[in-house]
Amino acid sequence: MKKIIFLLSILVSTIGNSQTDQENIKNFYNNSLSNGKSYAWLDHLSNQIGGRLSGSVNAEKAVAFTKAELDKLGLDKVWLQPVMVPKWVRGEKETAYIELDSNKKINVNICALGGSVATPVGGLKAEIIEVRGMEALKLMHRDEIEGKIVFLNKPMEETFIQTFKAYGSSVGQRVSGAAEAVKLGAVGVIVRSMNLRLDDFPHTGTMRYGDQDIDQRIPAAAISTNDAEVLSEILGKNKDIEFYFKQSCKQYADVQSYNVIGEITGTEFPDRYMVIGGHLDSWDLGDGSQDDGAGCVQSMEVLRLLKESGIKPKHSIRVVLFMNEENGLSGGKEYAKVVKQKEENHIFALESDSGGFTPRGFSFDCNDKIFDQILSWAPLFKPYMVHYFERGGGGADIGPLKNDQIVLAGLRVDSQRYFDYHHAANDTFDAVNKRELELGAASMTALVYLVDKYGFNYTDESSN
Ligand SMILES: [Zn+2]
Repeated sequence: MKKIIFLLSILVSTIGNSQTDQENIKNFYNNSLSNGKSYAWLDHLSNQIGGRLSGSVNAEKAVAFTKAELDKLGLDKVWLQPVMVPKWVRGEKETAYIELDSNKKINVNICALGGSVATPVGGLKAEIIEVRGMEALKLMHRDEIEGKIVFLNKPMEETFIQTFKAYGSSVGQRVSGAAEAVKLGAVGVIVRSMNLRLDDFPHTGTMRYGDQDIDQRIPAAAISTNDAEVLSEILGKNKDIEFYFKQSCKQYADVQSYNVIGEITGTEFPDRYMVIGGHLDSWDLGDGSQDDGAGCVQSMEVLRLLKESGIKPKHSIRVVLFMNEENGLSGGKEYAKVVKQKEENHIFALESDSGGFTPRGFSFDCNDKIFDQILSWAPLFKPYMVHYFERGGGGADIGPLKNDQIVLAGLRVDSQRYFDYHHAANDTFDAVNKRELELGAASMTALVYLVDKYGFNYTDESSN
């Protein structure tokens, strides 16, 4: 009998909890959709500040703006964490053309890849050879490549439903194309933009030379998908054409910047931390609204919604706006370094860095036992159609926090259109839908609320 009463009381308290959870979660969504701040913050970041490349004046303006806005939320602490970041500057707008013969040129849209060296001042003109990605490049011989520009034209795999997987399968040519092609004597590299759509926007992104000497480095640029198709078609008919491009980008010495951090200190476990974040820096061609202004304002909104709800979190909850995800990850590395130095116990980190699109659920990097626990929360997200919970990575900025204790999570959104905008000039404020952005912020808040309230199974064991 005692046992039955005991089980009954658990059942009643579970139902009670679940009702409270439903109500609290609904309130987060109501507040985000009716009185949310995320869209106005994004408007300022995008339209008043603009692209926020690491080391730029705009990046510093974004640091000052977001810190001031966090100050207004009445959090327990707001501070700037210094971090050294690379400073790469694009210079003049790039130009490029296909030269069919001395009388006929076709202009094409390119942009320098982040971290690339410039072409010679007058530009670079050479024969061009099409290669379908890195695997194909590795099979080529020096006499095929020497003295030529290599055109790496492996499209993102359009049959992959997970667009990030499609990105992952092709992005190697952007990151390491120049470093590999130069080994075969290439003089420059043109890479097909990482874009599933055919359009005229070239998409930048980081590239690496590894330990190559500066005077051995060759310039690398991205070409729009439409122009990649044109170039490929022309090369299919005539291999003797030449390609010209000119870019004046430059790498400077590292400069100091900051991660922006705000905290609500926990009532029960102040020395156990939960982090919510996105990256404040962006590429320079657009406003960086989708990548990752959206994730930053959503993360700020999580703390605002929690604060306004009157719920006092048990754990210390931090928003971290990471600097320099795009071309170095210095902010994420620095934050993790300080966590280690101070021996701060982080139990959870959640990143939003997939664009401000309709939220679908979350990915989790954790053990089986914890994932089972997390899955038990999925029904609470069903009314919002945000119950797609899967195993997977959290995000680049929170990656350096990984250890056996922490659970890393990422907001998963409908990413079918993400690569239309990613790192391109059309990544602007108008590409973000207000409602979708706000639904994402509320979904993140709901998850943070549940993790804070229930902790993780292993956390309870270690505290007993
Ligand atoms: Zn990003």
